[in-house]
Amino acid sequence: MAGFRSGAVASIARKWLCAQSPSRAPASRHSGVSHRKPAGPDNDASPLCVLSAGALCRSLLTSAVSSTPVLLTAAISFLSYLCRPGRPFLLDVRRNLALAWLMKQAVYKQFCAGETLAETRATMSRMRAMGFRGTIITLATETVCDHHGNRVNGPGLESGAETGAVMYPAIESWRKRTLEAVQMLSEGDQLAVKMTGAGPLVTDALAAGKALPVPMLDALDEIGAQCKAQQAQMLIDAESQLFQFGIFGVGLELMQKYNGDGHAVIYNTYQAYLKSMPASLAEHLAAALDGGFILGLKLVRGAYLATEKRSLIHDTKQDTDDAYNAVALGALQQCLLGFGGTDTGARPFPSVKLLLASHNKESVLAAHELHTRRLGQGLKTVPVGFAQLQGMSDTLSFGLLRLSGAPEVYKCSTWGSLDECLGYLARRAAENRDAADRTRDEYSALKAEAWRRLRRVFATR
Ligand SMILES: Cc1cc2nc3c(=O)[nH]c(=O)nc-3n(C[C@H](O)[C@H](O)[C@H](O)COP(=O)(O)OP(=O)(O)OC[C@H]3O[C@@H](n4cnc5c(N)ncnc54)[C@H](O)[C@@H]3O)c2cc1C
Repeated sequence: MAGFRSGAVASIARKWLCAQSPSRAPASRHSGVSHRKPAGPDNDASPLCVLSAGALCRSLLTSAVSSTPVLLTAAISFLSYLCRPGRPFLLDVRRNLALAWLMKQAVYKQFCAGETLAETRATMSRMRAMGFRGTIITLATETVCDHHGNRVNGPGLESGAETGAVMYPAIESWRKRTLEAVQMLSEGDQLAVKMTGAGPLVTDALAAGKALPVPMLDALDEIGAQCKAQQAQMLIDAESQLFQFGIFGVGLELMQKYNGDGHAVIYNTYQAYLKSMPASLAEHLAAALDGGFILGLKLVRGAYLATEKRSLIHDTKQDTDDAYNAVALGALQQCLLGFGGTDTGARPFPSVKLLLASHNKESVLAAHELHTRRLGQGLKTVPVGFAQLQGMSDTLSFGLLRLSGAPEVYKCSTWGSLDECLGYLARRAAENRDAADRTRDEYSALKAEAWRRLRRVFATR
């Protein structure tokens, strides 16, 4: 793939970091594009000034733990233990209400949208009020295939509820709850779907490369149609490799149906850490070109490093970064994997809509800069949005909202009961351990914002 090396990408991030210093923030870095005002009270302060006092305190607490290795290791072990079946009363959030309350205030509210529809709607409104284009909402349930432990963990597996076929309770429950989520979406919001949340009949079919059960196909069709009716998008999450080829196939079929009339309703997710990603993406670009539909391309690095077969994944983090940047920047230049560009034999570039889901400042800022520059120069590009997870990389998310070119920024938030969200929370904690530098930077920014507010309080006395 095209070699967008780390040096050029990092220098853009350094420039941006300088531009974020309060006294030097430029009014507009590109002529002809507006500079969006932050939704907060103080335009000169750090991007974090829009956080409420409660959210700032919670972020400080989780950041303090995440940036202290011993505390983080203890937190990961604790969260992983809470996820296990058959834990004792004291460590069971379904029975120990004091523990549930504490976990909800300190951890759940930082990373998750809500346990009920009302709580989730309130979180989504807060996101919009802070300036985000919308919320990406996702149900917590999923099935993870642990290649190392040779285990599959997911809903319906403990009870063996669906092994007898004929009945489809897990699919029906997933359909109902996903449709509840769809009801919460308004224009600009997005639904992220984890297909493996629908239970063992679905995961068995995905793993075997067989057709999904008819009730699941009907459910996906109903959800796609509802999203289209509400002008929202349906993002199909990428999951463990065991299931991913099946997921890709279903996603392409839905795109064929729903992305044909100039709107991209359905997105597949491409994991840059996989050595096989360029081949899968090239196949899907060809399908979009031949089928005349828009390819919804959500790009991530990949979240299943700890459980996936290691040989499937790039050998180094740098290789994953290069693969991510090559696809992001290539798509924005409409020149990628033999599509677009001037090389002999290159096929035309199909219609693509890009969503860059990442907390990596270098990748995100390089993409935003390239996109704004190409728009300014009247060069071909593709529409792009940016997404970060709720409770993570707020400096980047709020910083993006201040940049010229009015980038579309989304926060992605998980909803479900505290118990359902524990696995998700454990993964977020592990992710923070793997991104130690970023976690420390975020903690420093949060402390600086807290000091700024304290100094203001004393200065006004
Ligand atoms: C909105 C949103 C939606 C997401 N949806 C999905 C999804 O559907 N499916 C999914 O799998 N993930 C998803 N993720 C998670 C994502 O894949 C990453 O795990 C996470 O965002 C961290 O990567 P990063 O780009 O933010 O940046 P970074 O922190 O710079 O990158 C960390 C990532 O680099 C890779 N990496 C780390 N070490 C190595 C190594 N030694 N060798 C090779 N690669 C390495 C891993 O992918 C790791 O997660 C989503 C993330 C966001 C923000």
